[in-house]
Amino acid sequence: MKYIMALDAGTTSCRCILFDRFGRPVSSAQKEFTQFFPTPDRVEHDAVEIWDTQRSAAAKAMSDAGLTASDIAAVGITDQRETSVIWDRITGEPIYHAIVWQDRRTAPFCDKLIADGISDTIRQKTGLLIDPYFSATKIRWMLDNVPHARERAERGELLFGTIDTWLIWNLSGGRLHITDYSNASRTMLFNINTLEWDEEILRIMDIPPCILPKVMPSSCIYGETDPDIFGGSIPIAGAAGDQQSALFGQTCFNAGDVKSTYGTGCFLLMNTGEKPVFSEHGLVTTIAWGIDGRVEYALEGSVFVAGSLIQWLRDKLRLIDSAADSEYFARKVKDTNGCIVVPAFTGLGAPYWDPYARGAIVGLSRGVNKYHIIRASLESLAFQTCDVLMAMEADFGKLSAVRVDGGASANDLLMQVQADILQRGIIRPDILETTALGAAYLAGLAVGIYDRKSLSEKRRDTVFSPEISPEDRQKRLNKWHKAVALTRDWEKE
Ligand code: ADP
Repeated sequence: MKYIMALDAGTTSCRCILFDRFGRPVSSAQKEFTQFFPTPDRVEHDAVEIWDTQRSAAAKAMSDAGLTASDIAAVGITDQRETSVIWDRITGEPIYHAIVWQDRRTAPFCDKLIADGISDTIRQKTGLLIDPYFSATKIRWMLDNVPHARERAERGELLFGTIDTWLIWNLSGGRLHITDYSNASRTMLFNINTLEWDEEILRIMDIPPCILPKVMPSSCIYGETDPDIFGGSIPIAGAAGDQQSALFGQTCFNAGDVKSTYGTGCFLLMNTGEKPVFSEHGLVTTIAWGIDGRVEYALEGSVFVAGSLIQWLRDKLRLIDSAADSEYFARKVKDTNGCIVVPAFTGLGAPYWDPYARGAIVGLSRGVNKYHIIRASLESLAFQTCDVLMAMEADFGKLSAVRVDGGASANDLLMQVQADILQRGIIRPDILETTALGAAYLAGLAVGIYDRKSLSEKRRDTVFSPEISPEDRQKRLNKWHKAVALTRDWEKE
């Protein structure tokens, strides 16, 4: 019996899940690591701590299951995307903390790039919008601000990587400096049409190409782990960014397949097949994965506030004691009694892109009670998701069903409302750990433990189907859009 090890290096913790040859989790371990907030616009991680945390989570998952390196057929890696590390190629020492995807320190430089008129170039080449979120300006910041970094980089002494690259480099004892297509496509340096690091963008960003990793398929044997790490070597055989990995774990293998992850925010990805689709509706274009000499693309949109609205009900309004209570209370009423919550706490993301919007509760009357507000809050997750999915449909064409995962997808009421508002089926897999599962599938495919066809057949799902009429749905959607319109530009002078 061979197992697959999935390493899931998230934003707040590193996890390891061991899956058996049927894709069932047999053991899992998780460890948090430190978040550094040096100033309000900065978020950093200690890359060495991430590696230590990931390594010890893996060791614990193995010992809990009583497994040794020889029981494990392959390791797959999935990571928080965009977060950037630069380290010394000889000593392995990072030159600075990892700059995290949430970090906004390079916003002024991004504004300058936009003012210089290169937005279209960046969009056509990388599929992305110019934003501090992506790796490029973080790398430049380190080269410009860490003493001697630029000279050392130009002398070939330094290496750059996102967290997948950093972990693979450490797992291989410093032998492999690689990334996969999906992670490369989040750097804002990778040309998603030619599948190469883009010379023009590297020149604009002033980044020496010698620090960049080699870009490899998302599923292939890259090399082996250093035997000292797990007491024997294991093939390193797959890597993908967390959202792409979840898309794969959800077996969204065909163009038009969509997954929606309901966590702190919502992340939606739609597989668009072998051609990149450039959005007219505020979505970004990204590489889903590269496998067997073929690259597949995805459209991506995100909702900033989703599960965090439920936390707000719990911690700030104190309407509920736990996130799961939201379903219990929302079920006490049959509708929201006209009340609509728009959780634009930090502005609105796709498809609105309005940083000045702020949250609102509208449609209030004397009859509205706490249950209605809780229900309206849950419904807002479904409405926001619907807006992004409608943008995807407008760009790509009709989608069929939506596969869901993430903490809030456990809420049956939310899933039913989502089916009603979308007028599409909602499919929830029995294994909600789809991010780690995707990494396991990618690695397992490379070593012949899994094949794509049987992965799709193996699933056991819960399906939610629409229960309201298209007319009712349209009426509710109209009210929602009326409510959203009221929140737009709120903070603009
Ligand atoms: P992340 O990976 O972003 O930390 P998770 O996928 O772990 O998020 O999901 C946690 C989020 O889901 C929290 O914001 C929490 O409020 C929300 N959540 C968890 N369970 C429920 C539930 N039953 N109903 C609604 N929201 C929930």
